[in-house]
Amino acid sequence: MNEFCKTDVIDFCENESFYKRYIDQNARQRLGMDILKFLYFKEGSFINPMKKAQILKTYIEEEKENFFKKNILNIPQVEFCITTKCTLKCIDCCGLIPQLDRIRHIEMSFCDFKNYLCRLLDAADSIRHFIILGGEPLVHKDLAKMIEFACAQEKINIVQLVSNGTMKFSDELLDVLKKNNKRIYVYISNYLANEQLRPLLKHEEIKDALRKNDIKFQFDENKKWLKEAGFSIQKSDDNQTISKIQECFKSHCSQVLSGFVSICPKAAAAKEMAEVEISDSVDIMGSNNLRDDLIKFYQNPCPDACRYCVLSDEGVIPALQK
Ligand code: SF4
Ligand code: SF4
Repeated sequence: MNEFCKTDVIDFCENESFYKRYIDQNARQRLGMDILKFLYFKEGSFINPMKKAQILKTYIEEEKENFFKKNILNIPQVEFCITTKCTLKCIDCCGLIPQLDRIRHIEMSFCDFKNYLCRLLDAADSIRHFIILGGEPLVHKDLAKMIEFACAQEKINIVQLVSNGTMKFSDELLDVLKKNNKRIYVYISNYLANEQLRPLLKHEEIKDALRKNDIKFQFDENKKWLKEAGFSIQKSDDNQTISKIQECFKSHCSQVLSGFVSICPKAAAAKEMAEVEISDSVDIMGSNNLRDDLIKFYQNPCPDACRYCVLSDEGVIPALQK
């Protein structure tokens, strides 16, 4: 039993970070994936939108029970960044990919992909939402093999592949997506609001190919982009850091890059670029007790990267290029 299970449930719910980043996120991901599974794969049952709040409440209670009484650890969501190579160079990339790739190109080998995923699945009881992305993941030569491997893992609830919509899907990739079309869906970013990019976007070809092969996809609605403001050289204090995390939608996007789990893509990139001092990412292969380290990760109210992170609320044109 982990050390967290020894204490009263109420005490743990007072750890707001753990509650928000773990309990609440697990419940939300579970509900989101239930809706998606019914919509895309005709699995489970229809969820009445009027009952969502009630279901969420039930899932939160079940998640508490799972963790505190049954010793079950579910990873709400994790992204694997399989390459820092990208077909675009967005100035405001929230994963700092262009800067990172210029300093250090990182490619996750198929062997590393398997090792990291197996270690996480050994340490946890499930991953509710597993995401493969980059850079642009379609440039990776072993993407099809990675998808096949991830879709075969029973502890993963749903797999998502994220692409920026600039590359056609190869026949090999379409085959593996089709074969696993009850386990995976594709998410295509929408940069149409950026007129200069339109000639590069292959949305219609991609959507046609996915439809023909009965592969489910989401075409991103035109999301608002915010200026990427980088990091400050000065640390923020606990209160400032906690409020940054509360307003930051990326604090639920934990990412694996170079074998470390970080709170978000920006933190993962900053660790690799040694831009700020980050010592609290979880070392998947080096950890002696990955389960406990993951729990500590979710329990940490002030991750190092967030202390230095500068958030901006200035809206910018999506995917503006360097
Ligand atoms: S935002 Fe997406 S498309 Fe743009 S550089 Fe970053 S990873 Fe590439
Ligand atoms: S480092 Fe923290 S505050 Fe900054 S983007 Fe990532 S999660 Fe948000």
